[in-house]
Amino acid sequence: MIYDKLKAQDDEYLLHSYGRAPVAIKSGKGSIAEDYDGKKYIDFTSGIGVNVLGYCPDNWVNAVTAQLKNVQHVCNYYINDNCTELAEKLTKAAGMSRAFFCNSGAEANECAIKIARKSGAAKGKWKIITLVNSFHGRTLTTLAATGQDVFHRTFLPLTDGFLHVEGNDIEALKNAITDDVCAVMLEGVQGEGGVIPMAKEYLQAVRALCDEKDILMIMDEVQTGVGRTGYFYSYQSADILPDVATSAKGLAGGLPIGACLVSEKLKDIFVPSDNGSTFGGNPVVCAGAVEIVNTVADEAFLKSVQEKGAYITEKLNAMDKVSFVRGQGMIIGIKVENGMDAHTIMDKCIEKGLLILTAKGDMCRFLPPLNISYEDIDAGLKIFEEAINS
Ligand SMILES: *Cc1c(COP(=O)(O)O)cnc(C)c1O
Repeated sequence: MIYDKLKAQDDEYLLHSYGRAPVAIKSGKGSIAEDYDGKKYIDFTSGIGVNVLGYCPDNWVNAVTAQLKNVQHVCNYYINDNCTELAEKLTKAAGMSRAFFCNSGAEANECAIKIARKSGAAKGKWKIITLVNSFHGRTLTTLAATGQDVFHRTFLPLTDGFLHVEGNDIEALKNAITDDVCAVMLEGVQGEGGVIPMAKEYLQAVRALCDEKDILMIMDEVQTGVGRTGYFYSYQSADILPDVATSAKGLAGGLPIGACLVSEKLKDIFVPSDNGSTFGGNPVVCAGAVEIVNTVADEAFLKSVQEKGAYITEKLNAMDKVSFVRGQGMIIGIKVENGMDAHTIMDKCIEKGLLILTAKGDMCRFLPPLNISYEDIDAGLKIFEEAINS
């Protein structure tokens, strides 16, 4: 087994910050991953919502490799057309005004937090409210924003000024907004926190409350963004616009990227040297992202995501051992009651050739490629049902 050799090398030379599954992936095409020993897996993970159009889609590979032969990197003193084209297409798809590009979700959220601090500075406002069970990243500041103590414990002290309130509870939020609060930051569906959707009415009430109190509404769309919920960004399903939106994971289809988008009233928030990133706006990454936005920011494509999500949810609800299903579009959380925990189910699925994820609260989580075929959906669901019945 090539896996055993790789696992030994991984154990020896990498810090043990990840719990590894018994799989090493060598290659993939579409919704199918292949390991080093030639076994194939249907992928319901997309690399945690990253490979939104599956493994190595042709148009994306062509755009990325063509750009690699032009120029691999230009520093941010110079302008490049891939970066400007992505900024125009992405802000239009998002209904926002301007973008800052970086390399990850945590970094995009750091940018949003800097914007919130700067916008509140003159008014003495600097605290930020986030939700219980949220996940916003692994840097010390985004960890402080993350409303789950398990991530905090051994890294104290974290950045000061973050308060956590229960989601889907507008009164709790109202009571927490004191004169020194500059922003509220939340996910449309809490992904890591257990696939917990925020109600449309709640998101609309948060929007109204932020306007009333003159504070920023920041939507963390790192996991829910780029079509995942059946809308380009999840806030679009609630017919609202936040003041700031952050995006990462799926945005470049598998290359590292982060984006922080601002609305019209914040378009001049930054002046030169307020923020920066060596690799942010990298031309190769942006060439890939333009292909993703071209495909996903399309009404028919987004509708197909809603339909596939509904189809998967209906089939899951019909399974004996499934007690409930929640989420939005193709971010799907499944609670199974069969005496096995979610990690055991995940391992059973791997044995049978299906990759799935878990989330807080002993949830199984599916984040399939958005363009997965109904044939691959059916084959994956069949394996899942066998695994939870075994
Ligand atoms: C994954 C995730 C992040 C962190 O993104 P990184 O790219 O790992 O830094 C932040 N917010 C949400 C909602 C996420 O799902």
